[in-house]
Amino acid sequence: MTAIRVPLSSIDISDRERRYVRDAIDTGWISSRGSYVREFEAAIAGQVVRGFVAATASGTCALELVLRALEIGPGDEVIVPALSFGAPASAVAAVGARPVFADVTAETWTVDPEEVRRLRTSRTRLLIAVDVLGHPCDFEALEALEIPILEDAAQAHGSSCRGRSAGSLGVASIFSFHANKTISAGEGGCVVTDDQRLIERVLELNDYGIRPERPYTTQIVGHNYRMTNLSAAVGLAQTERWDELLAGRNAVSEQYDRALAGVPLERRPVAAWAREATWLHTVATEEREAVLASCARAGVDARAIWPALPDHPAFEVAQSGSWEVARGISARALWLPTWSGMPADAIALVSDAVRRGLELRPAR
Ligand SMILES: *Cc1c(COP(=O)(O)O)cnc(C)c1O
Repeated sequence: MTAIRVPLSSIDISDRERRYVRDAIDTGWISSRGSYVREFEAAIAGQVVRGFVAATASGTCALELVLRALEIGPGDEVIVPALSFGAPASAVAAVGARPVFADVTAETWTVDPEEVRRLRTSRTRLLIAVDVLGHPCDFEALEALEIPILEDAAQAHGSSCRGRSAGSLGVASIFSFHANKTISAGEGGCVVTDDQRLIERVLELNDYGIRPERPYTTQIVGHNYRMTNLSAAVGLAQTERWDELLAGRNAVSEQYDRALAGVPLERRPVAAWAREATWLHTVATEEREAVLASCARAGVDARAIWPALPDHPAFEVAQSGSWEVARGISARALWLPTWSGMPADAIALVSDAVRRGLELRPAR
């Protein structure tokens, strides 16, 4: 094994993050009651122009809280795209509901509205629309179906659909602030919505099921899925650097596009109505194994994308479908290392490893 020279992802931390964390520690406020949590929530609300934000311990926690707040559970179906990180389907299963997988479109790699129409039944309570790999779903087409939408924007900070920003769509949206996401808090997530009743329900569930007017009295079975003030200190600093961090990733993507121009690789498509915000630069090829092997030899941590969700052991439920587009992408797509501040020589090293894998001469 060659030692890793270029990791898949890395962090872009400035003095601001260090200063805020130090301040949180110095003031003695490290739990979720600290002021950075409230400031972080306000900063996210400002970014996505939405009324209410509740910070959580992770994106997965945020998904589960929304599902519980909407009282989705056993006997209910939730439509989930077949191409996604597994968390949305896990959250559905965790509340006892059934994830129903819809194929994606070849043009966007996001959920196909026609498939959602075909799969809806009288038990369908919700669609989780995942803005996969920094590309928004076709919200106009999805909204026309009149199924409540939960937008999973965990990978899509800063992307937009016909001018509407990711995180502002559906009955609620969630973000993740895991260390490898575009805006990070170490671990973290949030629920964003304009629905006051929904956010109150989320906050109650996330405060052990206790209501402020009756202290220490458990009204409903609740959780503690809250974000700490330490994480929020990092998250606030990162949110204040929103444009810089987005531009950092998009610049890496542009450099890959230039370095790999003319190379027989399919780049992840971007619809005419979408503004992509790169999360991980993603390409697809029938020669994926050769490209990954070449990257491994060069110490480049490129990786194959997730298997299609119906092919995960946890979700192999009795449902039929072929999910041809999602499975085709899962079989061919790979991620190239991407982070804000990634040095140009690392991008060149990756690009050369990709070219060699395709038996092309390195560019330099
Ligand atoms: C990362 C991610 C999540 C989960 O977020 P965590 O903070 O890691 O729990 C959910 N959905 C998608 C699409 C993700 O990429």
